[in-house]
Amino acid sequence: MSSGQTQATQEAIQKPIQEPIHVIGGGLSGSEAAWQIALNGVPVVLHEMRPLRQTDAHRTDGLAELVCSNSLRSDDHGTNAIGLLHEEMRRLNSLVMRSADSNQVPAGGALAVDRDGFSAAITAAIAAHPLIEVVREEIAAPPTEWDSVIVATGPLTSPALAASIGAMTNESALAFFDAIAPIVHRDSIDMTVAWFQSRYDKAGPGGTGADYINCPMDRAQYEAFVAALIAGDKTEFHEWEKSTPYFDGCLPIEVMAERGVETLRHGPMKPVGLTNPHDPQTKAYAIVQLRQDNKLGTLFNIVGFQTKLKHGEQTRIFRTIPGLERAEFARLGGLHRNTFLNSPKLLDETLRLTAAPRLRFAGQITGCEGYVESAAVGLMAGRFAAAERRGEPLMLPPKTTAHGALLSYITGDHIGTIDAGPRSYQPMNVNFGLFPPLAQIPNKAPDGTRLRGPEKAAAKKRAMCARALADLDQWIGGSRIAAE
Ligand SMILES: Cc1cc2nc3c(=O)[nH]c(=O)nc-3n(C[C@H](O)[C@H](O)[C@H](O)COP(=O)(O)OP(=O)(O)OC[C@H]3O[C@@H](n4cnc5c(N)ncnc54)[C@H](O)[C@@H]3O)c2cc1C
Repeated sequence: MSSGQTQATQEAIQKPIQEPIHVIGGGLSGSEAAWQIALNGVPVVLHEMRPLRQTDAHRTDGLAELVCSNSLRSDDHGTNAIGLLHEEMRRLNSLVMRSADSNQVPAGGALAVDRDGFSAAITAAIAAHPLIEVVREEIAAPPTEWDSVIVATGPLTSPALAASIGAMTNESALAFFDAIAPIVHRDSIDMTVAWFQSRYDKAGPGGTGADYINCPMDRAQYEAFVAALIAGDKTEFHEWEKSTPYFDGCLPIEVMAERGVETLRHGPMKPVGLTNPHDPQTKAYAIVQLRQDNKLGTLFNIVGFQTKLKHGEQTRIFRTIPGLERAEFARLGGLHRNTFLNSPKLLDETLRLTAAPRLRFAGQITGCEGYVESAAVGLMAGRFAAAERRGEPLMLPPKTTAHGALLSYITGDHIGTIDAGPRSYQPMNVNFGLFPPLAQIPNKAPDGTRLRGPEKAAAKKRAMCARALADLDQWIGGSRIAAE
């Protein structure tokens, strides 16, 4: 049996019984989804519009083209969440990981690839699989007779398909600038400086009156901060991004700063309705607020801090905020054109559109961020669709695994905001803040000495990775959680 020809594939070739599943988009996620469907013995048609129609970023007709960097980031599966996702995908027979491993180029601890070799390997494997048919065409709307479809058309989904998805989901827009505010790990915020309180202690629907973390600034700190924002190095928009509109109320923080030194103090940094319990007599001149971002309460986003500042500049400047001196960022801010669904509202736990369950979504269009994350969501969508077609129960990966943590963020664990303004669900890379906390955090080294600081943090990550891989192996072995 050749690689990619499982027992299920062999059976399906001898006795083809099923209608195909249709995958739209042959990028990172669609290619992986098609591969997983075929591995599970179900025929699949992969519809890719290139080269008949290009996107603004793709340059070739190859499947799984990497549009920018050639790095799949850290390959350390002992202490790094993206490295862990790599390893989990390898254990799940990922075509993307197999092709990355066989086209690796030297890049220290990162897994970087020869982009042409990587895409060629995936294109060849898909073309050679007897259960996969590739059709080069743009799909403007999934035909109603297709009873099982995976939409994996990515951040640059063609406008016609984006419009038809928009109509199906009743969303006003799908293509716009992501206004990404930075996200901070809760346990890296200094709560001897910051405090929990909602403005005017308002509980609002579903709140407690103490839902935000507040970081106070005096006048000198505020003015230095505004000056740093204006002086900081920014990234430029791509030519084709320039025509995409901003969401109302979504200006980059540095653009607000440029409008006048007082602008931020009357906008996202206004100090009203809040009292610092560490120093109740002193009125803060400005206050930075962070809002809970996931149900676990491990991640908080900095409210209104969408920005085009370069990543290094963000880390440097945001760590001047009192209470955030040692902040660890799960994600840094950004603004770029994207197409993605409000997935926690629109998708069920197996990535189906609740309004039209014959459609599943995969990849960046679900609101994950990154090549590997997109492929991993494609992997899960492919397995779910194949199991459904075969009449088997759908098994969710445990939330303690990188796959489960990512799926959980996309389909439900993100907390919607009670405030007016742009929707709060924003694209996310995999990171440890998405994982359920450990029952017990390791505090001793094997030799019995007490762990401190960075050693303790590394031990915690190691324990999370070990737990994830053990739970993944059990899931693969059949001890799984059935979707409701
Ligand atoms: C400019 C840019 C740079 C990026 N840089 C990076 C980076 O450096 N590192 C990183 O990790 N992530 C990066 N990303 C984010 C993201 O990881 C990638 O976009 C990733 O390729 C997403 O995978 P995907 O499968 O969801 O979409 P894609 O890989 O984009 O695949 C979607 C496929 O669908 C096809 N398609 C679109 N519409 C239709 C249609 N109607 N019918 C048929 N086919 C269609 C497209 O041609 C494409 O082949 C970048 C994104 C953009 C836009």
